[in-house]
Amino acid sequence: MKKDSECVKVVVRVRPFNQKEKENNSKPCLNVDEKLNTIELIKPVDNEAKQFSYDYVFGMNAKQSYIYEKTAFNLVESVIDGYNGTIFAYGQTGCGKTFTMTGIPENQELKGIIPRTFTQIQTIIDTNTDTKKKFLVRCSFLEIYNEEIRDLLGKDHKARLDLKESQGSVTVKDLTMVTVKTAQDMDKYMTIGQNNRSVGATAMNAQSSRSHCIFTVYVESQIVNDKGNEFIRVGKLNLVDLAGSERQSKTQATGDRLKEATKINLSLSALGNVISALVDGKTQHIPYRDSKLTRLLQDSLGGNTKTVMITALSPADYNYDETLSSLRYASRAK
Ligand code: ADP
Ligand code: MG
Repeated sequence: MKKDSECVKVVVRVRPFNQKEKENNSKPCLNVDEKLNTIELIKPVDNEAKQFSYDYVFGMNAKQSYIYEKTAFNLVESVIDGYNGTIFAYGQTGCGKTFTMTGIPENQELKGIIPRTFTQIQTIIDTNTDTKKKFLVRCSFLEIYNEEIRDLLGKDHKARLDLKESQGSVTVKDLTMVTVKTAQDMDKYMTIGQNNRSVGATAMNAQSSRSHCIFTVYVESQIVNDKGNEFIRVGKLNLVDLAGSERQSKTQATGDRLKEATKINLSLSALGNVISALVDGKTQHIPYRDSKLTRLLQDSLGGNTKTVMITALSPADYNYDETLSSLRYASRAK
């Protein structure tokens, strides 16, 4: 049996400078070594350097296809074989979480992990030559906002759903499940769900930075063994675009915004605690119950599952403080 620490991979990805940073002549504060998978953070005031190492370190030129190959490919294969897995994107708003997870779905080069998993799943199913094996693929898409669960594929995507616990597993009551036949079907539901992420277009980015969203693909395979007995195997893949990790004190949040901020911090720290407890392997108690996010993902974190945490980073030195805290968060998960 593998140790949990071997089933958790932690990677970081640095995005390129954006237009505004280029115009402002922003200075870098990160040195990436893609061969050694190390990254060095330089403090702007005194050039003090801190070193970190991860399973993979991706620099600003890393291609979407390469990231996919290194982080998601094997995990998707094991989901087809009936195991559960989770891929998270973590980091400060504007550092590339959504670019990494979703990217630009209609662009072959720029599409992100989620649409690429759809293609891989379809390919595996289409090329299956075992006539005794049949697949059923279903999807769900939800958002956790203020510790409330919303069904992004539901008729009423503003309704709040409850968690239901039975026989040790946690599910979302009344969550919409759609059956999909092709990668195109999955893309369609991904887009529908993205558009249902509440509020008006102008506030879209602000909103998405305050909620966690989870696209889940369930792959059920029906197998007939040599004795003619039929059995069913189910693997589940959670693709999670987390809320922005930036410290909210900086944004001087008050009222509703502050309430949101507190809940975001709560679930991100709960997630960090769960993953570091799993990786540490010494404690019997894994604190899944501390947030909706970790309760919901309980059967896909630890045990016989695979987890990948991708931390998105800004290269610019004005983000030093946030980058340091993201690197530390990622290190705890190692
Ligand atoms: P987040 O979801 O973390 O808030 P986004 O993924 O929306 O951040 O990224 C912010 C902006 O930076 C977007 O315009 C996105 O297209 C761009 N971007 C992020 N990462 C990359 C990358 N690796 N290469 C090119 N552009 C990127
Ligand atoms: Mg985003």
